Amino acid sequence: MKNVVLLGSTGSIGTSTTKVAEDLPDQIRLVGLAAGNNAELLLRQIRKFQPEAVSLADPERAAELRNIVGTTPRVYAGTEGLVRLATLPSADIVLIAIVGTAGLQPALAAIRAGKDIAIASKEILVMAGEIVMAEARKYGVRVLAVDSEHSAIFQCLDGRPPGSVRRLWLTASGGPFRQLPKEEFASITLEQALKHPSWVMGTKITIDSATLFNKGLEMIEARWLFDIEIDRVKVVVHPQSVIHSMVEFIDGSILAQLSTPDMCLPIQYALTYPERVASERVQTDLARIGQLTFEELDDDRFPAVNLAREAGRTGGTLPAVLNAANEVAVAAFCQGQIPFTGITETVARVMAAHKTLVHPTLEDIMNADAWAREAARVK
Ligand code: NDP
Repeated sequence: MKNVVLLGSTGSIGTSTTKVAEDLPDQIRLVGLAAGNNAELLLRQIRKFQPEAVSLADPERAAELRNIVGTTPRVYAGTEGLVRLATLPSADIVLIAIVGTAGLQPALAAIRAGKDIAIASKEILVMAGEIVMAEARKYGVRVLAVDSEHSAIFQCLDGRPPGSVRRLWLTASGGPFRQLPKEEFASITLEQALKHPSWVMGTKITIDSATLFNKGLEMIEARWLFDIEIDRVKVVVHPQSVIHSMVEFIDGSILAQLSTPDMCLPIQYALTYPERVASERVQTDLARIGQLTFEELDDDRFPAVNLAREAGRTGGTLPAVLNAANEVAVAAFCQGQIPFTGITETVARVMAAHKTLVHPTLEDIMNADAWAREAARVK
């Protein structure tokens, strides 16, 4: 039985995680749940899973929830609440599925309290991968991947060292605009960008999948998770999203992990690792799928991947700057303030204006993040 703290329980990954917990009542116990603003869903989750402690972003809402539930579970609020949950004495593993960078502080707190962490929030490793992985080594805890691509690579690597790897291959569905001519990119609407061909996800990651910044962030995430130079992390377009990623070994052999797209599978693997636990949820009928195809990425229509490669190569504060500028630009696009192409343009502009610090402290990274948010803001 693993005691799990789930940060971001009301989101897309969060609700898939609660399904996994329902599937495996003898393996997974949700001892802590944190949400942003959705107090109603959190209350339903409290009644179903009876956690020890919960948290909401807003202290007033947390106080209202406390009035409803009484003393059990304990109700916390804000960043302090996330840190309380991440360090809950009974927790074995903390799954971080908060959109954006709010998960960084609780991730570090969990590691320092000796907890394994499972990371869905790739922004954490993009911003501060070097620091997070160094802390995890120091405290002897595991950093497990929840992203389907990184879970696939982790499963294919199966403990083999970076020296046995020629390349890591991240697969990309190509998003909704895989075949759209370049001239039409500037007039892409929010509604079109939110229609992902293979996955149903939160808004930010869905837009990131349309620009392919998601793949760029994943390259940097892979660089840290698997301790490999970014130039050995490659991207291939695979529209069926059945191969979740691949490892090409030094002898030329390629191992891949396949399944119909369902985030419950990588979530379950991270939470039950190193065991493989039986579940009927995911069934893959390859004959019905019929064909698996591959295409080269078009860097001209999707410059996000090259921007991320540049940030990953340079390192230091530049990946945090890319990440923060992208978050602000995605929000501006969602609010109708900039066109779809403005997202990549904003990130490129802010990256070009940044003076990178090579071996940053956490404070340097937070300062670079704040600087990039201001520089990316629509004035
Ligand atoms: P959603 O937008 O669906 O959910 C985000 C969750 O974070 C919600 O529970 C939200 O709460 C919570 N939240 C936001 N801000 C705070 C805060 N300050 N304190 C506490 N909780 C907060 O996002 P996704 O589930 O899609 O994505 C989460 C992360 O996982 C992202 O980093 C994404 O890149 C990554 N990821 C997602 C995948 C997917 O399939 N969705 C796949 C791989 C990675 P509330 O709703 O209550 O406000």
